[in-house]
Amino acid sequence: AEPVTEPTAGGAGTARGGEGGEDAEPPEGPRPGTGDLLRLLRGSGRTVGAALALTVVGTVLGLLQPLLTMRLIDRVAADRTFSLLVVALAALFLAQAALEACGQYLLDVTGESVVRRLRRRLVERLLFVRVRELDGRRVGDLLSRVGTDTTVLRDMVAGSFVQLVTVSVTGVGAAGLMLWIDPVMFLVVAATLLVAAVLVAGVMAGISTSTEQALAGVGAMTADLERALGGIRTVRAARAEPREAERIGADVDTAYTAGVRSARLGSVVGPAMEIAVNGSFLLVLLIGAVRVSGGSMSVSELVAFLLFATYLVMPLAGLFNALSLIQRGLGSLRRIEDVLRLPVEGSEGADPSAPAPAAVPSGQVSSPLLDVRGVAFSYGDRPVLRDVSFSVPRTGLIALVGRSGAGKTTLVSLVEKFYEPDHGQLLFDGEELRRVAPRAHRARIGLVEQHAPLLYGTLRDNLTYASTEADEEAILETLRMVNLAELVERLPDGLETAVGDRGFNLSGGERQRVAIARALLPRPELVLLDEPTSQLDPINERDLTDMLRGISRERALLVVAHRMSTVRAADRIVVLDDGRVSAVGTHEQLLTEDPFYRRLTTDHLTRPLDRAAAD
Ligand code: ADP
Ligand code: MG
Repeated sequence: AEPVTEPTAGGAGTARGGEGGEDAEPPEGPRPGTGDLLRLLRGSGRTVGAALALTVVGTVLGLLQPLLTMRLIDRVAADRTFSLLVVALAALFLAQAALEACGQYLLDVTGESVVRRLRRRLVERLLFVRVRELDGRRVGDLLSRVGTDTTVLRDMVAGSFVQLVTVSVTGVGAAGLMLWIDPVMFLVVAATLLVAAVLVAGVMAGISTSTEQALAGVGAMTADLERALGGIRTVRAARAEPREAERIGADVDTAYTAGVRSARLGSVVGPAMEIAVNGSFLLVLLIGAVRVSGGSMSVSELVAFLLFATYLVMPLAGLFNALSLIQRGLGSLRRIEDVLRLPVEGSEGADPSAPAPAAVPSGQVSSPLLDVRGVAFSYGDRPVLRDVSFSVPRTGLIALVGRSGAGKTTLVSLVEKFYEPDHGQLLFDGEELRRVAPRAHRARIGLVEQHAPLLYGTLRDNLTYASTEADEEAILETLRMVNLAELVERLPDGLETAVGDRGFNLSGGERQRVAIARALLPRPELVLLDEPTSQLDPINERDLTDMLRGISRERALLVVAHRMSTVRAADRIVVLDDGRVSAVGTHEQLLTEDPFYRRLTTDHLTRPLDRAAAD
């Protein structure tokens, strides 16, 4: 017999999502429009109102400047005195600057609160979303939506509204005043600007698609980098750094190419507008000069007109900027709403309309704690479980065995209500799982995942993750039970030692025992252990088996097992073969009755070293 190697741990069973599914973009929702952008401001209505009011007043003050200038020139020409008008003009400048600064500040703050609101909603959505929705999503891409896309919206809120308000107020005001000073010259300016505006609008559309592509590139980059860094040791061991750098570099290039494309489009706009602006300026100057010399226009009127013309034209650059911010914002909003639309568990969670379970057959003394009845399940259109039935009594050790990929972890996920079965029923304590709220249900179950992660914080945080109220006594007792007491003594700060990525790195076996302790500490009615011995050495494994036996006297244990010692200790063994229960019984029964089980025990179950030697 070949001992110790890990036959079923890891392997195909841990593959998430399959090959093609990973990059699949979810179905797109409706494209958000400008109305959706405005809805972002809900809750900041008053701040935005105040900011816009300040901006409007500031802009109007700005419009007064050419008029005052006109008066100033007239006065100086008449009697060579500057008088109070200069002071008034200076005061106007200052007031305008102050108002605009305040308005901008308020909008910046609004932008920050929009980001905060969105991020909080995104974080909450992502943590509560149905497990199924996260299969086939790339974590990094989701992260970039919380990080990058929200900042795009912040910049849009902070940057575009002032511009839009300034442009429209200045536009209307300056146009009116120019019309009043000289209608013909106004028409010349208006015509050139119209041409410029049409040009800008055309280019904007192109820029919008480019920026969306750039953001998608950033999303892909984050996702790929996240995955590569997550498995950095494997990447190094496979000497795949250059390949990864190349792949992630390609995402960077996508963003670059899209950025360059919008830069190219944008670069056309600037000079074209400049030509239009300077051209109209020149025309106005020529026509104005003729009029002034002909006496139909005063010099001060010409100066004021030219000032208004620049007022009208200058914010056009800002308008261009604001529109592109809005385009970017729409793209990001789409990526954000895509996440916010993901169905959360709560909305589906308990379904009281699901059919009640059929009555327990009369004559049965006590109903099982978990009763799986004819369950079928598929990931997408890939069937994994077909007609699975078995039950778990209220106490005792039930082992679930089967080849890698047989569907054992999937079955555990169904019991945790991570997924709903396609057919059949799971009854927990006599209640159909579809009818119970997931969080309440999970409070009664302890789960040790196949690859149990360490979570944030200290060893204590990790142990009490499912039972934050646990008292010291219970913690110590559980630690002794899983043979971790000695580790705690070795750790520099005992239970308060930070563990995991940013702290003390625990070995695979230690991690697994921490995970078992975490699942046991809340004293659940049912404990699900998915290959809890995959990382343990044989000595620990025997302790663990003894421990499991001890625990199973008080509560139900369902253990996905691949070690002989655990399987032998089980009160009942459920054999899963290719998504079906092929046999149920004790080790001895199955050995004599079930050829598949016999093959499984020789090919797939690991024996502990000592017994293997004895065999
Ligand atoms: P086991 O735990 O018995 O090794 P699993 O329940 O993990 O098997 O997986 C059963 C089958 O379902 C495997 O073929 C696996 O590739 C597939 N599978 C597991 N999880 C997913 C998922 N989230 N999406 C699609 N297929 C999956
Ligand atoms: Mg598995």
